[in-house]
Amino acid sequence: LRHDDVVTLFHEMGHTLHHLMSRVKERGVSGVSGVEWDAVEFPSQFLENFAYEPQVLKLFARHYESGDVLSDEMIAKLIRAKNFQSALFMLRQLEFALFDFELHSRLYQGEEIQHLLDRVRERTSLIKPPAYNKFQNGFSHIFSGGYSAGYYSYKWAEVLSADAYYAIVDEGVFGSELAHRYKEVVLAKGGSQSMQELFVEMMGRECETKHLLRLSGIE
Ligand SMILES: [Zn+2]
Repeated sequence: LRHDDVVTLFHEMGHTLHHLMSRVKERGVSGVSGVEWDAVEFPSQFLENFAYEPQVLKLFARHYESGDVLSDEMIAKLIRAKNFQSALFMLRQLEFALFDFELHSRLYQGEEIQHLLDRVRERTSLIKPPAYNKFQNGFSHIFSGGYSAGYYSYKWAEVLSADAYYAIVDEGVFGSELAHRYKEVVLAKGGSQSMQELFVEMMGRECETKHLLRLSGIE
């Protein structure tokens, strides 16, 4: 497998575990079912992060001929490649999310839409797009992709997953008390309670955004 295939495998396995570990008997709120849109990617992105964790990679990432375990140097390169220009990427995601959310907060018409996007870009763009740029006309994610007023959910799930990830990794990757609580609270209870409540029950506090900055190599 290429490393990006491993990342995908971990991501989808995160969704799978959400289903497999559920103890909820009501189908509509068991596993992934009934979980809020902005939290459904939390378990998948959470597990995905472990595809960059040296202790995890060294369990299985070996050269197919020599059997050599992936070196620390190679792992550091993988992480550096992942984080290349991550701050610019994050700004762009924030631009999309803010524009989408504001756009759905009231009826915007005609030129107002461009003005709204211009205002958002004043906060998020390092390089101002040319006046002929009509990105908003082709923003299919929110007009035909089901993400209307929900584009922010990508980032929000990353905030939850980065926070939970570091809470566990900093305690010790394997067999930590928090990892156990993640399984018993977040995975086992599916959509039977709000993810906001489950997160606080697992972590003992509200989530913090600074962990996503650390994960992206920005902090
Ligand atoms: Zn997913």
